[in-house]
Amino acid sequence: MRWDRLADSPATAATPAAPADIALFGTDAVTTRTFDTPEFRGITFHEVRARSIVNRVPGASRMPFEWTVNPYRGCTHACVYCFARKTHAYLDLDTGIGFDSQIVVKVNAPELLRARLSSRSWQGAHIAMGTNVDCYQRAEGRYRLMPGIIEALRDRANPFSVLTKGTLILRDQELIRQAAEVTEVGVSVSVGFTDRELWRTIEPGTPSPERRLDVVRAFAGHGIDCGVLMAPVVPFLGDRPEQLRATVRAIAEAGASSVTPLVLHLRPGAREWFFGWLRHHHPELVGRYERMYGTGAYAPTWYQRRITRQVHELAAEFGIGPAHRGAPRRIPVPDHHAPPATAEQLTLL
Ligand code: SF4
Repeated sequence: MRWDRLADSPATAATPAAPADIALFGTDAVTTRTFDTPEFRGITFHEVRARSIVNRVPGASRMPFEWTVNPYRGCTHACVYCFARKTHAYLDLDTGIGFDSQIVVKVNAPELLRARLSSRSWQGAHIAMGTNVDCYQRAEGRYRLMPGIIEALRDRANPFSVLTKGTLILRDQELIRQAAEVTEVGVSVSVGFTDRELWRTIEPGTPSPERRLDVVRAFAGHGIDCGVLMAPVVPFLGDRPEQLRATVRAIAEAGASSVTPLVLHLRPGAREWFFGWLRHHHPELVGRYERMYGTGAYAPTWYQRRITRQVHELAAEFGIGPAHRGAPRRIPVPDHHAPPATAEQLTLL
C-alpha cells in the first residue's frame, strides 16, 4: 500500500512520494490494528497522522459545499453502490471488500481541525462532513473523533453540516445542539427506502432504515432540523409507487424537515461491485440495468425526473417541504452519494 511504502522509507529525492500521499499522511505514523470483538471482526484499521484535514473541493461550484472534513477512508457500512469505493484505489486498496474492511483512521483529525480553524487564513466557511465516507460509521464508536471535531467547530462558531447513515450521531446530539446555538448546523440522514430485505443485502453494515429514522425523530424532538436524503432510490427494487409512498410516509412520520430524492448512480468502482451483487441477488435484472446504465453512471434524465416528481408529490401529501436552498437554518445537503466531478477531487476528499 502506498502509505506502507511511505512509512517504511520516508520520501527522498530518489524515492519521491506523490503529493497526494504527502498531503494525506505523515511518513512515520501508520499503525495497523485489528480488534477481536464481534463488531470489528474482519476489519483492519490503519491509523495515520494526516498532514491536513480541511480539504477544499476542486471545482466546488459543481458541489453544494466547498470545504470538507473526512476523518475516515473506507466505510464499514459497506453499501454495495457506494461511489467512494474508487477512492480506495488511490491507496492501492481493494475497492470491493477492501473498502468495507480496510479503514483508514486519521487519528489526529480533531487537533488538525482546531489548528486550522484558528489560523489567520481561515475565513469561517461552511464545512461539510459525510461527503466522502460516513463519519459515524462503526469505527467512530471506538475512535471517537467526531466529538473533538464538533467541539472545535462549536468553539469557533464555524458552520457545518453532517450527513450520515449512522445512529452513532445520537451520542453527539448534545454537542451538536450546543453548536447549533452559536452557528448554522445542518444534520441530514440518508434513507433511500424502508424495504428490509433490500436493506439487508444492499446496505449490509448500516443501521436499519427504521433506526436511522429514529435519529431524525430524536433531532426533531430536540428542535434541531434534520433532513432526509432519500438515497439511493434503486431502480426496479425500491422504486415501486407503494415503496416510494411507504418511505416518504415514514420520513414524514419521523419529523424530517425535508426530503431530497436521489436516484442510484454507478460510477466506476461502484459499478463493478454493484453488478456483481446484482448478478448474485437479482440476475433477472442485469439486462435492464445494463440498458439503464449502459452509457454512463446515471439513470436516464426522464427516470430521475419521474422519481423526483413522485417523491415531491408524496412529500407535499405528507406535509414535508421539498428541500430548497436558502431557507432559514438550511444548509446545502452534503451528499456522499453524489460523486465529485473528477478523480482529482476524489483523492482530496
Ligand atoms: S454510501 Fe455512505 S454509508 Fe454507505 S458505504 Fe458509502 S460512505 Fe458508507
